[in-house]
Formats: sequence, structure tokens, C-alpha cells
Amino acid sequence: MIKIEHLNKQFGDHAALKDVSLEFPEHQTTVILGPSGSGKSTLLRSLDLLERPESGHFAFDQTQIDYSQPISESTVLDVRRRTEMVFQQFNLFPHLTVLQNVIEGPVHVLKQDAAAATKRAQELLGKVGLADKADAYPSALSGGQAQRVAIARSLAMRPEYIFLDEPTSALDPELELGVLKVLLQIAREQQSMIIVTHNMAFAQKVADKIVFLENGNIEFDGSSDAFFHTDNQRIRNFVSAMT
Ligand code: ADP
Ligand code: MG
Repeated sequence: MIKIEHLNKQFGDHAALKDVSLEFPEHQTTVILGPSGSGKSTLLRSLDLLERPESGHFAFDQTQIDYSQPISESTVLDVRRRTEMVFQQFNLFPHLTVLQNVIEGPVHVLKQDAAAATKRAQELLGKVGLADKADAYPSALSGGQAQRVAIARSLAMRPEYIFLDEPTSALDPELELGVLKVLLQIAREQQSMIIVTHNMAFAQKVADKIVFLENGNIEFDGSSDAFFHTDNQRIRNFVSAMT
């Protein structure tokens, strides 16, 4: 399980995260909600060590980090190897085919045998509905297809957790649906995930747990059911404005 305690992150004199303590249970999907600028991306990026909070504690099973101390390269590698980040912009390698994009990490980072990696990549492309696009280049894909390739590429690394920061906000609604369907399926297979999204219907379907951030504070941390039935007027207003 991933756990953070008393995390603080400043940008200049602006506090982006204030004394944030959270648990992200294994084999569950945690959805992070909140208005723009509330600290959602900063939180995800802190988990992946792309941002360095000034203070706080991070624990990923046996791996422990005190953010106020220097973090060793081997600890960073350990965390990065066990997690995958999927961004809003899909960041595929434009000069590689879809299949080559998916096997790149397994072959070059994990040192898997190319034949085995190719077989697994074909299975994953089937899973995201793109078996017929293996030899296409990213420029020939729609945004929704590209994001599904990015998800297949993440899964190919067999991460313990996948972090997704607004994975569909660059997509038209009809393309968004295909990506959300894939994420729902992965969630059902109990892949541990942390997803930032503004899509309330999707959040309600996919989330085991919901965290609501506002101005760097945790306004809500609980089950999806409790979130959508809360008496907290601020949250109710947010949900109805987003629905
Ligand atoms: P969200 O993802 O919820 O929209 P962010 O985590 O991106 O919010 O940002 C939280 C706050 O921190 C915002 O006020 C934002 O302007 C600020 N912020 C984020 N990244 C930086 C940065 N690199 N430099 C300065 N301020 C930043
Ligand atoms: Mg963000």
C-alpha cells in the first residue's frame, strides 16, 4: 500500500499541499477530485517523486521516504519501477509503431525477451481494443486511441500502481468513452490505480475511494458511496456543477 503523512508542498510562498495524509489501498481505485488549482497534480507528482515536497513521509510497503531528507537514486528507481504515470497528453514515441511503443519499456528497461514482450503487447492491445493498430504510427491514431496505447504501454510494465492525471481531458466526449471503458475494465481486474478526473459519472462508477482536495487541503477522504451522499454543501455544489 502507498501511504503519505503530513505532506507539505510549497511553490514559492504558495502552499499547494497542506499537511496532507492519505492512504491509497492496493487493488483499489482511488479517485482524486477537486477544483482546478487545488493540488491534484502536485499530489500525484509527489507520489511519483516528480515533485519534491518540503516535508512529510511516504511509505510504499517497505520503501520509506522522508521528503525533508535527500532521496537516494535507488529509492527513486524503486518507486518509478513499481508505478506508471499516464498523462493527459499521451507522450507516445512518434517514430515508433504502436507495438514498438508498447514493447519499448519491457525490452529496454525490464530486459524482457523481445518475442515474449511482443506477445504480451499484442494481448494488451487486444484488451484496449487496438489489436488492428499494432503497426500504425501514433500520428495515424485518434486521441482516444493514442491514450489507449499509452494505457497498454503502462500495463506492459506490470506496475503495482498506475497514476492517471486527467487521462481524458484532452479528448472529445465520444473518444473519452472508449478510454473510460478500458479504465473501468482494468479497475475491475483490481489493478491499483489513482485517477484524477473531472468526470463525475466515471468517478462514481470506478472509484472505491474518493479524495476531494480544495486549496491544498483534504476536504473529503472516504468511500465513493459516502462522497456521493455527503451533507457537505461545498462538495454537493461541486458535484452538481460538474454533472
Ligand atoms: P490541480 O492539478 O488541482 O489543478 P496543481 O497541483 O497543478 O492543481 O496546482 C496546485 C497549485 O500549485 C496551483 O495554485 C498552481 O498554480 C500551483 N503550482 C503547480 N505547479 C507549480 C509550479 N511548477 N510552480 C508554481 N506553482 C505551481
Ligand atoms: Mg492538474
